[in-house]
Amino acid sequence: MTELKAAVAEIAEQFAVSQEKLQQGVDLFIELADRGLASDEDVHGLPMIPTYVNTIPTGSERGIYLAADLGGTNFRVCSVTLAGDHTFKLVQSKNPIPVDLMSGSGEELFSYLASKVASFVTEHHEAKETDEKSKFKLGFTFSFPVTQSSLNSGTLLRWTKGFDIPDLVGKDIVSVFQGQLDKQNVPVDVVALANDTVGTLLSRAYSSGAVAGGKQGDTLIGAIFGTGTNGAYPEDIDNIKKLPADVVKSLKAKGVTQMVVNTEWGSFDNKLQVLPNSKYDVAVDALTSNKGYHMFEKRVSGMFLGEILRQILIDFHQKGLILRQYPTFDKLPHRLRTPWELDSEVLSLMEIDDSSSLKATELTLKQNLRLPTTEEERLAIQDLTRAISKRAAYLAAIPLAGILVKTGAFEKGVHKEIDVGVDGSVVEFYPGFRAMMRDALALTQIGDKGERRLHINIAKDGSGVGAALCALDGA
Ligand code: ADP
Repeated sequence: MTELKAAVAEIAEQFAVSQEKLQQGVDLFIELADRGLASDEDVHGLPMIPTYVNTIPTGSERGIYLAADLGGTNFRVCSVTLAGDHTFKLVQSKNPIPVDLMSGSGEELFSYLASKVASFVTEHHEAKETDEKSKFKLGFTFSFPVTQSSLNSGTLLRWTKGFDIPDLVGKDIVSVFQGQLDKQNVPVDVVALANDTVGTLLSRAYSSGAVAGGKQGDTLIGAIFGTGTNGAYPEDIDNIKKLPADVVKSLKAKGVTQMVVNTEWGSFDNKLQVLPNSKYDVAVDALTSNKGYHMFEKRVSGMFLGEILRQILIDFHQKGLILRQYPTFDKLPHRLRTPWELDSEVLSLMEIDDSSSLKATELTLKQNLRLPTTEEERLAIQDLTRAISKRAAYLAAIPLAGILVKTGAFEKGVHKEIDVGVDGSVVEFYPGFRAMMRDALALTQIGDKGERRLHINIAKDGSGVGAALCALDGA
C-alpha cells in the first residue's frame, strides 16, 4: 500500500461510526433532551425550545397565508393557498442575502427583508390589496436559536451559519421585523415565528394526510439537513417541565396536550462525550464564530462537509502525500488555501463519480478549486469524501432514533408507521445520504424492524408552507 493509501485508510477508519457509538449517541441524546426539557439553566442539556405551536395540521386547512424564511443563504418570501385537501398552491420569490448584510447592523438586514416582502406583495397580490384594509398574515421562519414566550415573539440567543450581527442578539426578532414592515407601509402582520424544522414538520403533516389516517403514519419529526441541521417534534406538555405553570394551566384549559419542541440538535453533545473529534474537526471549529457550540452540526451539515475535506487535503499536502508540485502552502491554488471555498456540492459530485480515471472529479476540482490532480490523488479524494459523508449520515441517525425511542413512537399502537419530514439540500441532493442514514438507523436501538416502519420523505417547500401553517395557528 502506498503512503497515501495508508493515510486515507487511517482516516476512513477514524471517521467510521460504530454501532456502539451510535447507540451511545442515542442514549446521550435522550439524556440531554430530557435535561433540556427540564430546565434552561442546564447548559449541557439540549435547548429544546418550546414553540407554542400546538396543532399538527390534518390537511383540511384552507386560506391564503404569507410566509417568509431567513435560512442560511437565501431569504424566501411566499404565499400559500391551502386548498383543504392536502394540496396547496405556492408562489415564491428567492432573494440571495448580500454577504455584507450578514455582519452589518440589524436595521440594515431587516430593512432589506421588509423591502423584499413589499415587492413580493406588490407583484403577486394586488387583488387582495384592494380587498379592504385587511393585512396579510405572515409566518416568519427564522432559522436561528431563539427563545419564545408566545407564538409571535422570540428572542435571538446567538447567531449561527456565518451570520454575526451583535446588535440583534437578545432582541425580539418579530418586533424588529414588524417595525421595518410598518416603516415601509407593507400590509403584513407577522403573527407567528416558526423555525424551519417546525415548518417542515407541519408541512409534511399537512401534505401526507398522516393525522387524517393516511398510509404514511403520523408525522413525528421534522428535520433539516441543509446549511445547518436541526429537528422538531411534538412533545407531551407534561414532559416539558420548564414551561411555566401558568402557561401549562392555560394550555390545558384549552384542551392542549402537546407542543412542538424545537430541539436545536445542532448543539447536541457540545461537550464531545460521544461525537468524534478529529484534528480536522478541531480546525474547522476554530474557524467559526461560535467555537465550541453546534458541534453536532459541524460534523453533519452542508456548511461544514466541504471544509472538513479541505482541512484534510491541506494536512495531506503538508505531509507531502498529495499535490507535491506545490512546494509550500503559499503556493497552493488560492481557493484551496481559502476557508469555506470547498462547497459540499462539490463533494456530492465526487461521491458518485464512476467515470474512467475519475475524469468528472478531475473537471470538478479544476472548475471549483482550480486544482489539477492525478488519478491517484482523485481516488484518495473520493475515498476521503465518502468517509466524511458517511460519518455525517451515520451521525444524522442519532437524533432521529433518539426522538423515536424517547417518545416511544414504535410502542404506541396507533403509530403503525412513522413519518419523518425532511428538508435541505444535503438530505435532498447528496447521493446516498438518506440510504446511509437508514443503514445507521437500523443499527440503533430502533433496530431494523423500526427502520422498516419509518418513512423519510422530503417535505417539499417545507419551510414556506409550514410557516404559513403556523400563521394559521396565530390567526
Ligand atoms: P439552507 O439550509 O441555507 O436554507 P439548503 O437546504 O439549500 O439551504 O442548503 C444549502 C447547503 O447545502 C449549502 O451548505 C450547500 O453547500 C449544500 N448543498 C447544496 N447543494 C448540494 C448538493 N447537491 N449536495 C450536497 N450539498 C449541497
